[in-house]
Amino acid sequence: MSGDQSHHSLWRRARWRIGDLLYPRICPWCNRVLAPHDDPLACAECAGLVRRLAPPFCAVCGAPFATGAGGHLCPACERKQPAFDHLRGVVAYDRPVADAIIRFKYGRDTTLARALARVLWSTRHLGIAWTGYDAILPVPLHPDRLRTRRFNQALLLLWSLPQRGLPVRAQWLVRTRATAPQVSLPDDHRHTNVRAAFAVAPGVVLKGLRLLLVDDVASTGATLHECAKVCKKAGAREVDAAVVARSVLC
Ligand SMILES: [Zn+2]
Ligand SMILES: [Zn+2]
Repeated sequence: MSGDQSHHSLWRRARWRIGDLLYPRICPWCNRVLAPHDDPLACAECAGLVRRLAPPFCAVCGAPFATGAGGHLCPACERKQPAFDHLRGVVAYDRPVADAIIRFKYGRDTTLARALARVLWSTRHLGIAWTGYDAILPVPLHPDRLRTRRFNQALLLLWSLPQRGLPVRAQWLVRTRATAPQVSLPDDHRHTNVRAAFAVAPGVVLKGLRLLLVDDVASTGATLHECAKVCKKAGAREVDAAVVARSVLC
């Protein structure tokens, strides 16, 4: 590493520590201020309420298996393999996780964004090598939704990550039509709702690239599947996906 680079990464780390002083570390789920030695992913109170996802899980979608070994596919991926290669979420989308994510989505809270970004960042312990991708793409919002919400929650999470200098490309994927929020729909309508709702932006070349899609939540995985499908059609070699929370049926 050259002196310049190490100086750069020192500065980066310093900036992150300064951020910690400006915005105290909080538990992502209940907003309690954490002590420096506390687990950043859940305070002692929330640790028992938040389900952390761990192997064994489906090799593709990361759905946890109740028992047995991992490395194989869950029944859903067995029936229809998703367009993404791997999807990993850190916690189950259940209370109090769902409440925190709703607070985050509908209020612009930088402290909470940093806390949730730390959770997202820990997908690197679940097989997502964040520094190994050619580009990292937040799942886009439709311009109408962006106007009412004022920010894309996936992009805000990416901006709040402890790691700087990642190849975030927020303009590469676009939402071509407005869709109903996935959470407002029953599971069997979610695939139809997002079908053909995404496209690669004109002029963007994905041929041979390794991509990482990022969103706050995966429910059925339909949105990430649709995004991955258009990326693969445009020539992407590999498409992984990372989310803070995912729905877990078992
Ligand atoms: Zn807590
Ligand atoms: Zn699966």
